[in-house]
Amino acid sequence: MRTYEGGCHCGRVRFRVTTDLARVSECNCSMCTKKGILHHLVPPERFELLSGEGDLTTYRFNTGVARHTFCRHCGIHPFYVPRSDPDKIDINVRCLDGVDLAALTLDTFDGRNWEQAIATWHHGE
Ligand SMILES: [Zn+2]
Repeated sequence: MRTYEGGCHCGRVRFRVTTDLARVSECNCSMCTKKGILHHLVPPERFELLSGEGDLTTYRFNTGVARHTFCRHCGIHPFYVPRSDPDKIDINVRCLDGVDLAALTLDTFDGRNWEQAIATWHHGE
């Protein structure tokens, strides 16, 4: 495991996370397609918000379980609470400092068919 720091574009929201980036995934749901987020789940005890709590705002839709937090100044989504694992933090790997995105192996999550996808998703953990 390694410790990474990351944040939004304007720098108000900063966080630190300790993890192994073995499992990074793309999702084809309506939201993730537009955001272009690269997902990586961590338990909350390995996530620390360093700054910007007051700069985050939340978008909810559909079931309302997912809390799509983003910086209200620059609009970037550095992390959020996902519907698939509401007890975890879903990091946007694109927002981590110093990660070679081209070196990552990406899984895909079939978020357009969420109910079927979630069954195999948790099976693979
Ligand atoms: Zn920002």
